[in-house]
Amino acid sequence: MKQRTIRLDHVAVVLCQPKLAENIGTTARAVVNMGLGRLILVEPENPDERVIRAVATRAADGLIDRMVIAPDLPAALADFHFVVGTTARLGDHRGPFFTPRTMAKKIVEMGSETRVALVFGTERSGLTTADLRLCQAVVRIPTADPKASSLNLAQAVLILGYDLLTAHEPSGEPPAFKPAVQGEVQAMYDHLQKTLLDIGFLPDQNPDHWLMSFKRLFNRTGLTHGDCNLLRGLCRQIAWVRKNGKPQIEP
Ligand code: SAH
Repeated sequence: MKQRTIRLDHVAVVLCQPKLAENIGTTARAVVNMGLGRLILVEPENPDERVIRAVATRAADGLIDRMVIAPDLPAALADFHFVVGTTARLGDHRGPFFTPRTMAKKIVEMGSETRVALVFGTERSGLTTADLRLCQAVVRIPTADPKASSLNLAQAVLILGYDLLTAHEPSGEPPAFKPAVQGEVQAMYDHLQKTLLDIGFLPDQNPDHWLMSFKRLFNRTGLTHGDCNLLRGLCRQIAWVRKNGKPQIEP
């Protein structure tokens, strides 16, 4: 059987504060096995390249050469259009939850122009609530027993990658819209949060939590560059009215 090569260069794996170099290496191997494009590390504890390369096998050499270390998660995500978090835990403030297979189909339908980040948490405690707030969707890999829901990091990466690889039969339909990059989306959320605090719509206590209702709404619809501009225009108009006491009328 002739095997064709499938490239998922537009999909990156982001590891948040990985503790063990062995896990970075086995993850690099999984990333290459499944044809994903890039590996990004956020604040790795011990990125010992000798250990990483030793466990990753030669096929991952190129990927490891191109591997980047980001200072924090927002910086790592700034250039992506769609960000997927992963967690073993189900909690109300997390989600919306998808299975790897449903998410893989969704990502493939978005087309290769959409840069996607799959974000994985640190070995012991996983992603924090603040990390998950930077994600537009969350994938939870089902397990047989809810008491044994936590997978090994590289195995979790492998499962998401495998479903992407095997879902790779796009329908041929063009993507419904071109999403804005996360740097722009986060800047809009910061602007919106400031505006909603200024007008007393969000409480001073824990505004990040309350802003999640808006994030959930926009995560369902998706946001384009124009949508971000529209919302920031609304914020600017609200600031104008607060300052001047009357609407600014365009001539
Ligand atoms: N106790 C942590 C587990 C950390 S395992 C938690 O509750 O998330 C390290 C990482 O592997 C997790 O942060 C997640 O990115 C991934 N992972 C492990 N099990 C997973 C599962 N069942 N579904 C999705 N991701 C999982």
